[in-house]
Amino acid sequence: MNAETPTPRKLRVATVSLAGCFGCHMSFLDIDERLFELIEHIQFDRSPLTDIKTVGPCDIGLIEGGLCNAENVEVLRAFRANCRVLVAVGACAITGGLPALRNHLDVGDMLQAVYGEVPNDPELPLPLNKVHPIHEVVRIDHSLPGCPPPADAFWQLLQDLMAGREPAPGLIRYD
Ligand code: SF4
Repeated sequence: MNAETPTPRKLRVATVSLAGCFGCHMSFLDIDERLFELIEHIQFDRSPLTDIKTVGPCDIGLIEGGLCNAENVEVLRAFRANCRVLVAVGACAITGGLPALRNHLDVGDMLQAVYGEVPNDPELPLPLNKVHPIHEVVRIDHSLPGCPPPADAFWQLLQDLMAGREPAPGLIRYD
């Protein structure tokens, strides 16, 4: 009797938006019908796509957005601790991006100007003085540049990682 070929294990993938606009996630979803092919090979862990709230052991973590508050740092550290491969997705994760435009302002003055007072509800995450790219806090394995990276870049990255290849440089779109 022939031994049955074991079904390859699906890769577990987590995604999160820190100080980002969810535009990178929307671009990921632009792989459209290829999502059906993708879910034959991966399953999602924590992600806006699943609504799972805490990250567990994963093969790949995709991080959108930089770090603007203490909660962002905590989530990023949890991703690093749980994800074998961590990818900085988009300009905000790689450089701080648009949210980092506030870095020349005093955070207290800024909150005062926006809210008329400095919010002090303990439920609110503590804002950082500056917005930081994620590589300043944890080790990053790969970067996917763009604002947002195009859908084809997500597709190529995941194809490479699923095949155990070093990912090709990201596809950057300037229009
Ligand atoms: Fe949004 Fe661009 Fe930042 Fe992605 S890189 S979160 S699309 S602003």
